[in-house]
Amino acid sequence: MCETCRENPFDRFRLSRRKMLIVAASLLSVKAAGAKEEKRKEKKEEKKEEKKEEKKEEKKETNAPPKPQNVLSPDASLERLLKGNSRYVEGVSLRHDFKHEREALAGGQNPYAAILSCADSRIAPEYAFDSGRGDLFVCRVAGNFATSEVIASMEYAVAVLGVPLILVLGHESCGAVDAAIKSLRDDKALPGHMPSLVDAVAPAVKAVSQQAGDVLGKAIRQNVIDNVGKLSSATPILSAAVEQRKLKVVGGVYGLRDGRVEMMA
Ligand SMILES: [Zn+2]
Repeated sequence: MCETCRENPFDRFRLSRRKMLIVAASLLSVKAAGAKEEKRKEKKEEKKEEKKEEKKEEKKETNAPPKPQNVLSPDASLERLLKGNSRYVEGVSLRHDFKHEREALAGGQNPYAAILSCADSRIAPEYAFDSGRGDLFVCRVAGNFATSEVIASMEYAVAVLGVPLILVLGHESCGAVDAAIKSLRDDKALPGHMPSLVDAVAPAVKAVSQQAGDVLGKAIRQNVIDNVGKLSSATPILSAAVEQRKLKVVGGVYGLRDGRVEMMA
């Protein structure tokens, strides 16, 4: 019997089975490597998506107003001012968390109203409307009149910060208006740069000078009315915002004794 004939036929089978196992093993390892690669790609894609989402969130945060409660319509803004003034008048002002507000406002501002107030030390808009930091955009000048710089500041407040309301705030016994009345009546110039205040308030004083009664009170109100008109018709930014109903310009007079702001029609 030759060697070949002596060979157990099952040995051949065993040999081919071993080969098959080797082939199968290599196939499996190829498949495993393929799966690994797939997983790696998937993870890479996931990470990419995560980064995209993070960037989106970051962008949202940057664009988000620091005080979402300050995003108001012109009417809601006025309502909030008046409610704040009522609390101030009643002596029940809120406790303001200045530390928290400071941190929230480090990256931006979105005040809910702008105020053109007299510089008089007795008028403090943030107190008078019981508002915190970042709530009111305030321009102050003795006699509360709108210069070019004031108009530019209000344009910034409206166009950039999205302020929906401007309040021109006069007050009782305004020294600037009183000085203008006396200067015009006596034809006597005030010293230093003060004649510029007189010039600015003069139109209101002249408009009421022939009327009977409380000329000072009337001139104060007329001065508020004049400056409401000046701001709401200031082209091109403020007048357009008023036309588009994004902005209201209103006037009020602050009472020194009770702190109440009387709104003018
Ligand atoms: Zn004043």
